Amino acid sequence: MKCPFCEHSNSRVLDSRETEDNTSIRRRRECEACLRRFTTYERYEEITLTVVKKDMSREKFDRAKLLTGLQRACEKRPVTPGQQEAIISSIERDLRQAGDTEVSSRRIGEKVMHYLKGLDLVAYIRFASVCKDFQDVSRFAEELQNLSARSSPALSPEPEPGRTAEEPATNEEAARRRKRRSP
Ligand SMILES: [Zn+2]
Repeated sequence: MKCPFCEHSNSRVLDSRETEDNTSIRRRRECEACLRRFTTYERYEEITLTVVKKDMSREKFDRAKLLTGLQRACEKRPVTPGQQEAIISSIERDLRQAGDTEVSSRRIGEKVMHYLKGLDLVAYIRFASVCKDFQDVSRFAEELQNLSARSSPALSPEPEPGRTAEEPATNEEAARRRKRRSP
């Protein structure tokens, strides 16, 4: 890159560091001819990522929208907002590095699931049930089976909001259970 002062073509890099958000590299340079200093930045070429939805409609890749879906899946789960942001950043970086300008919403969903699977299985299943186009109940059951085969303690079912798991249907049932438990 030419020196902005004398247009000499060679410069020496004095210092090179990533910017705070790790999306670009800042280089402090010194012109070999006039010795004046200037700064250059190296960053990704800005590519508009287009998401192709199931109905083949297209929309711009929307970080915020993806994050909302992820937040919903991670509600009351031990996946921190920082981890959620990191998932989306990783996905966006993967997509941009792949150089594709169009990506299916399905592929994005699968990427999210890939990351969630390693973090929290409940969040994974929640996200999968919304996003993955489970054709029928049996496929969902299959997916659950695959997961429980890994026998992770994180898989213990969570009660749906408004419904309590393990709650006996009636008071009589509860009394019967109590009786059974006591010798
Ligand atoms: Zn110069």
